[in-house]
Amino acid sequence: SKVPPIILNNGIEMPQLGYGVWQVPDDEAERAVATAIEAGYRSIDTAAIYGNEEGTGKAIAASGLPREDIFVTTKLWNSDQGYDSTLRAFDTSLSKLGVDYVDLYLIHWPLPSKDRYVDTYKAFEKIHADGRAKAIGVSNFLPEHLDRLTDRTNVVPAVNQIELHPHLQQHALREKHAELGIATEAWSPLGQGKGLLEVPAIVAIARKHGRTPAQVVLRWHLQLGNVVIPKSVTPSRIKENIEVFDFSLDDEDLAAISALDEDRRLGPDPATFDLG
Ligand code: NAD
Repeated sequence: SKVPPIILNNGIEMPQLGYGVWQVPDDEAERAVATAIEAGYRSIDTAAIYGNEEGTGKAIAASGLPREDIFVTTKLWNSDQGYDSTLRAFDTSLSKLGVDYVDLYLIHWPLPSKDRYVDTYKAFEKIHADGRAKAIGVSNFLPEHLDRLTDRTNVVPAVNQIELHPHLQQHALREKHAELGIATEAWSPLGQGKGLLEVPAIVAIARKHGRTPAQVVLRWHLQLGNVVIPKSVTPSRIKENIEVFDFSLDDEDLAAISALDEDRRLGPDPATFDLG
């Protein structure tokens, strides 16, 4: 494959770059995921709440690739937190995806106000023990949620998928992950394609390497060790976003991008988000 893997804390390999399908309608997901697989992506990031597990699953089946060649991630939605409801929601996700296991199952948000993520994760441990998720993890967890979870459960999350891009570099969480052996997966790695790709320092580095700003930002993540899941439905950009393994940023480039941190979120604050 084009994309080298990272090794998760349970020995499972995960491609360091995958394709995210948030906001892709179900009836477009099949074509978009097929385009991504054609371009060389072997990891797909969906979620129950995205409403496109069926389209995603159809593309995986239609690819003709052996199941073990594709790394499938899905996520448990907030309203399904709790032990029994998690087991039911997982069955629904598997059947929509049309697979008999997922590679990675994530708790989508911690919802500290509901205080159900420990019980939810115990159901994840059961799913993992049954071999129906090769790895389990979390998303949008803050350091205090990781501490509480690892105190009360047995399987250290393999991954924490968090908002992370040059304007929100998440130093405290990345340190916590290193301490606990959790892989850092960056959502909205391109800052949702908004102002970030026009920042002069990034445009200048792109010119210097004869690359695009999106490729430079993805390369910055990869060299930091982050897993990335950029999203696009435009075939040329889907291809562009995976063509990032044949050049490197130098120390000066990395430092210039690291200087762009503004501690600024695009998405909700996990400490207070409790939708669903
Ligand atoms: P992203 O940073 O990947 O940006 C996507 C947008 O950037 C696209 O819609 C497009 O407008 C633009 N873009 C993409 N490629 C480009 C290119 N080469 N050149 C110029 N513009 C380009 O943002 P995202 O979609 O928010 O995040 C990626 C994935 O992360 C999602 O699809 C989803 O799978 C995941 N995610 C997870 C959570 C969570 O709570 N766990 C939240 C948001 C997103």
